[in-house]
Order: sequence, then structure tokens, then C-alpha cells
Amino acid sequence: MKVLVVNCGSSSIKYQLYEMPGWTILAKGLVERIGESESSLVQDNGGEKHYREMPVADHEEAMLLILRSLTEGATQVVGSFNEIKAVGHRVVHGGEEFTGSVHINDDVIASIERYADLAPLHNPANLSGIRAAQNALPDIPQVACFDTAFHTTIPKVAYMYALPYELYEQYGIRRYGFHGTSHRWVARRSAKLFGRHKYDINCITCHLGNGCSITAVKDGRSIDTSMGLTPLEGLVMGTRSGSFDPAILFYLAEKGYDTNALKTLCNKKSGLLGISGISNDMRTLVEKAREDDDRAALAIDVFCYGIKKYIGAYAAAMGRVDAIVFTGGIGENSTYVREKICRGFEPLGIILDLLRNKQTVGVEGEISDASSRVKLLVIPTDEERAIAGDTYEIAMEKQKKK
Ligand code: AMP
Repeated sequence: MKVLVVNCGSSSIKYQLYEMPGWTILAKGLVERIGESESSLVQDNGGEKHYREMPVADHEEAMLLILRSLTEGATQVVGSFNEIKAVGHRVVHGGEEFTGSVHINDDVIASIERYADLAPLHNPANLSGIRAAQNALPDIPQVACFDTAFHTTIPKVAYMYALPYELYEQYGIRRYGFHGTSHRWVARRSAKLFGRHKYDINCITCHLGNGCSITAVKDGRSIDTSMGLTPLEGLVMGTRSGSFDPAILFYLAEKGYDTNALKTLCNKKSGLLGISGISNDMRTLVEKAREDDDRAALAIDVFCYGIKKYIGAYAAAMGRVDAIVFTGGIGENSTYVREKICRGFEPLGIILDLLRNKQTVGVEGEISDASSRVKLLVIPTDEERAIAGDTYEIAMEKQKKK
């Protein structure tokens, strides 16, 4: 069965076409700058890259372009649209309602629309993709996979903010958490590496990319995570601040910053970029730190110290920790950052093997010393693969019911 996985941003669509079961990737690609005069499509058919520029007015047009790219010309990998039997969509916010991936119907669409209030940048873009795919491929199952779903097992004690309770009841203000598909993927993979059932693992999963979050996974279920009502809370990120004293916002408001300026400040000008003044890219910062740039070094130190504190907090929340897992662009690749995070953990039984750490870049592997009580693992994340798996399962169930 051919399953298309799409991840729609406000001006882009990332896609991958899988042959299931078996997760063979037939093609993957990206349409960027949707709505601008110079949009582009790049498609990779197993190492062979094709690039085209053309105007693409909206998501509807982008979806047709993707389907044509998969079925026609030099980029063709399938005979016709009809061969695609299901589409899986990444959806950022599913509120408290969606505890797993679901077949999309009118009620699901209405809910995704409702949660757009909590994820104004993401859910409307995800919905545009769903509508475009429904119009282009009306007769096949469309499946929604929510970033928040894995975190719906977080207990109330961990998701409530100490704000007036009415705000939770009236507006749904609570911790939801994000990157759930990634945290679930690496947690399940860790259980496999331990040779255990998926619900027989306690691990702390560190998703460190441009966006960063960390999750406490107890008995295979998320019991706490660093992102909150929005993906701004928690760890220091590329350009996002992560957590800080909220009174800073009142102080800046009194200095004349309006809501939009504060949003831009916290989302686009803070984090690694804000502290270093140079870049949000960890590769650049590591290079600069090695050249004795103090602010680049400080940005990395603040980043790593924050992660260290969360690991400590989650270890306390969980009691037993089998593994700490690193994933995401930084987690999978930056030996420098992993070493900095783990340094000083030795008395707690968390011991990095420096050589293994250096040798494990962009691939799965164990990086802890044989004497370490807690295993340190690098597991490349694969959200698309997880979405393809869920979509295939749901499409098969629908087929059986027919
Ligand atoms: P992601 O959002 O998961 O694609 O991750 C993007 C982040 O990963 C950026 O900050 C990159 O600088 C970082 N990254 C990718 N490769 C490396 C590397 N080899 N060393 C350090 N950081 C890396």
C-alpha cells in the first residue's frame, strides 16, 4: 500500500511517499515559498534530486503539484494518483481530545479548527493541507497524527499551571506538550533496544533540534514534558527563549514593547541566537566557541545547563531511569553538546563513553560507558515514519471494516 505523509507549514509542504508495510521510501520532497512568485519543489527519488521553480499560489496548488511530481515526468515514482491509498497528516494541536492518530472526518476537522486558537501558526496550515489532499484524493482515508497526542497521558499534577483554575476551564490553559510523535518514536525504539515491551521502559527523551523539548517517559507513557500551552516553554531553542520569569514581559510592556514585539522577541530573537548574537545554528556556535567566542560559548552553556536541570527534575519525577535518549539535529549530531550535558552526571550513575560519543554521529547507537547505570542512547527521530505507520494501520482497519 502506498501511503503519502505530508507536513504542512504556512508556506511549505514536506512530503514522503512510502510503500507499506516495510517503510520503503519511494520519494521525498519539499514545496517551499507557497504564495510567493518564486516557489520551488525539490524531490529526492532515492538519492537523485530534482529541483524546479514555478509560482505556486496556495496549498491546493502545491498538493496537485506534488501529486503530479510523483506520477509524471522525470520525477515519477508511481503510475497514477489512484495508487496512493492513504494520506497521513502531521497536525500540531489536538488539545485534550486526541489521544492518538485518527481517521479524518468532519468532526475531526471541526476540532482541529477549534484548537487553531491555541496553535494559530500551525493548525490552519495543517488544515489547508488536509483540505487540499481531500480535494485531490477524495476517495481514500486521510489520517491526522497529532504532536500533542503522546502527551495526553501526562497527569493533572504535571499539566496544571498555578494560575486561577477558571483559566483552565474557560480557555483550556494547561501544558499540552509537542514533538509527541518524535518522543513516542524514540521511546518505542528504546524499548526495542532493551528487548522489552513498549510499556516497559522508563526514559528521558531529549528532542534537540531547532525546536527543543524533553519528555519524561514512564512505563512507555509521557508523564511530563517541557513544552507547554505552546511550543515556547521549556528548553532554550534556536530562536525561542524557553522558560523565563514572566514578569520580564510586564517589565518590557511598561518599557513600551507591544504584544507583537514581545512575541517576535521570544519566538524569533531569543534562544541560542539571542544570547550569542551570531546564529541559531548549533554548528556555527560550536565552531565559534572553539575559536574562543565568549557569547557563542555562553549560549551553548546556557542551552546545556537547562537540559541538565530538566534531566535531574525528570529523574526525580520518575524514580527509575533506564535510558536518556538524544534525538533531533543537535541530539543526533552534536558530540560537543552531548558531552557538555553529560559532564558531571557521573556520581548519579550516568557515564558517557567519550569515544563512543565521538563515533556516534547521525546514527543510532549507545554512547554510555559499560559501567553506566543509565544507558545513554542516540536514536535518530523519524516522525514521518511514525505517521506512515499510524496511517497504514488506520487505513488497513478501514479496509477490513468494508
Ligand atoms: P532539526 O530542527 O532537528 O533539523 O535540527 C536543526 C539543528 O541541528 C540546528 O541547530 C543545526 O545546527 C543542528 N545540527 C545539525 N547537524 C549538526 C552537527 N553536525 N553538529 C551540531 N549541530 C548540528
